[in-house]
Amino acid sequence: MIEIKAVPFLDLKEINSQYQPEIDMAIKKVNESGWYILGKEVDEFETKFAEYCGVKHCIGVGNGLEALILILKAWEFEKGDEVIVPANTYIASILAVSRVGATPVFVEPGINTYNIDPEKIEEKIIKKTKAIMAVHLYGQAADMEKINLIAQKYNLKVIEDSAQAHGAICNGKRTGSLGDASGFSFYPGKNLGALGDAGAVTTNDDELAEKIRILRNYGSKIKYVNLFKGDNSRLDELQAAILRIKLKYLDADNAKRREISKYYRENIKNDRVILPQTIDELSHVWHLFVIRTENRDKLSDYLKENGINTMIHYPIPPHKQQAYSEFNHLHLPVTEKIHNEVLSLPISPVLKKEDVEKVVNAINNYK
Ligand SMILES: *Cc1c(COP(=O)(O)O)cnc(C)c1O
Repeated sequence: MIEIKAVPFLDLKEINSQYQPEIDMAIKKVNESGWYILGKEVDEFETKFAEYCGVKHCIGVGNGLEALILILKAWEFEKGDEVIVPANTYIASILAVSRVGATPVFVEPGINTYNIDPEKIEEKIIKKTKAIMAVHLYGQAADMEKINLIAQKYNLKVIEDSAQAHGAICNGKRTGSLGDASGFSFYPGKNLGALGDAGAVTTNDDELAEKIRILRNYGSKIKYVNLFKGDNSRLDELQAAILRIKLKYLDADNAKRREISKYYRENIKNDRVILPQTIDELSHVWHLFVIRTENRDKLSDYLKENGINTMIHYPIPPHKQQAYSEFNHLHLPVTEKIHNEVLSLPISPVLKKEDVEKVVNAINNYK
């Protein structure tokens, strides 16, 4: 019997083995440098990633969640402050708000974009509202033009959660440059992924950048002199060295994701399946290819039987999590519908053409 290999959802080993020789050299270089925290590699990556995003500053931090927390801490948000957040997001966006003691105020997404619906933001703004968080979910830039206009009108800060959208472009500008500050994650599975935890803040605000540089390093600028009660959340030299290599290939990787997405969108034809939409091709970097279908589990079981691995992003919305029992009573029908119906198909820069075709054929034959 010939054993047929299942279509992987995301093959990280395959992705990173493409860069094995370069990564090995970079690791060796860091080892031999004798300098392992906040050295040349972090500096160089920060410069390169700031340039890439089109902003003045990038500050490398421990992970994506801490990037968001450090921004909110630097703004001195505290108990009683409210931050408008998309109800349809990964839990980390919401956890960041909770961590500084502020209150997340959930706004429903658009049913076609899955991103925060700008038309529903204003009704949630009160005196205590301090900021709007935009999450570029699944890799698609949120409607930043409308969000920024609302923020200006009410004098609110805008924070981007860009953890899923490295390189996406909105009105000619990249994510990370579209609000007052942005948090990025370089978790291994993201479009730009390290070989461990890593993250960054990007901003054009000089003062904010300086404060986050201090906050990520125990609240200290000069060793043993502490200006704030800071954290230890530093991007480490090894991950920075690896990210410098992978950043060079990000645009090419995103182009491959776009190609696969286009193929899926043009060739999947099944009335039971709702395909994702984009306003323009550059605004989406396809971190995930998320379809919707009424009987989601039936489709995922069927695909599994046909040797295709899928995932659900995400099965439980933040307001229905046990961790957020204070919000369990909320009824957010669009968010709940999305969480009940979404299914993520395999997509990655190393996904093989025959695997993409296999996915299309299987879905087209699904009854
Ligand atoms: C991954 C992710 C984060 C958190 O990043 P970590 O590096 O895992 O802490 C935050 N927000 C969103 C939308 C994410 O997908």
